[in-house]
Amino acid sequence: MSATNLLNQLSRVKKTGADRWMACCPAHQDKTASLSIKDLPDGRMLLHCFAGCEPDAVLAAIGLTFADLMPERLQGDFKPVRFAFSALDALRALVADLLFIRLCALSMSKGRELIASDLESLHESADRIENALAAIEVKP
Ligand SMILES: [Zn+2]
Repeated sequence: MSATNLLNQLSRVKKTGADRWMACCPAHQDKTASLSIKDLPDGRMLLHCFAGCEPDAVLAAIGLTFADLMPERLQGDFKPVRFAFSALDALRALVADLLFIRLCALSMSKGRELIASDLESLHESADRIENALAAIEVKP
């Protein structure tokens, strides 16, 4: 499968580099484009959801498996790669969370209390930030 075929199955695809894209993750309710896609020189494609979805769940959501991300000549001789995703892509994936946290911080700094649903959303944002930092190998 080519990168183009994969990208055609995703929504809100944006090219963020020569060999990389961001798109909405099909495995969760993605408000921002949290899915990073990277095309490796050997023909493999890497996927990472900055919100924390497992790659096999992302693939299953669009009816694919890992074998679809790999050229036939490499199948069976698959060496997993350690790869830190782009810090800029991680930041792009976190924009909605950061804007929400900013609003909460402004509100609290004026002495207002957050409602329960905002506290729940804050918790989810904190989880996404933790996942994104792990993906770009930043230790808090
Ligand atoms: Zn996801």
